[in-house]
Amino acid sequence: MTTEHFHVKVDHLPDCGRCGARTFLMARYPHSWDNRAGEAVNGYRETALCPICHYDQPEAHELLIRLQNSPDAGAEVIASCAGLVAAWIEAERQRQVDPVALERELAAWHAGEL
Ligand SMILES: [Zn+2]
Repeated sequence: MTTEHFHVKVDHLPDCGRCGARTFLMARYPHSWDNRAGEAVNGYRETALCPICHYDQPEAHELLIRLQNSPDAGAEVIASCAGLVAAWIEAERQRQVDPVALERELAAWHAGEL
């Protein structure tokens, strides 16, 4: 069994890249994928937890509620919901880009609908 680490940042957070909302935390975690030659590439990925974009994601929902109820969300709050943070990060790691959805969004963007 390998031990994987992730890092969570709660200050100097970027606004959400999708909707511009203030994000609650930023997670950095190991991420690997296969390149065109089929070789595994290991790297890191960062995801900011957004109260709007992640609201409907089941793994993020309770975490968002906890953080929304703690306006000064700091390291102590994050530590107190470490299990929720870990569950959300795991869900993010498993999330793959849906090529059909991507194509649909791209077409909508080209059509000026986004
Ligand atoms: Zn957002």
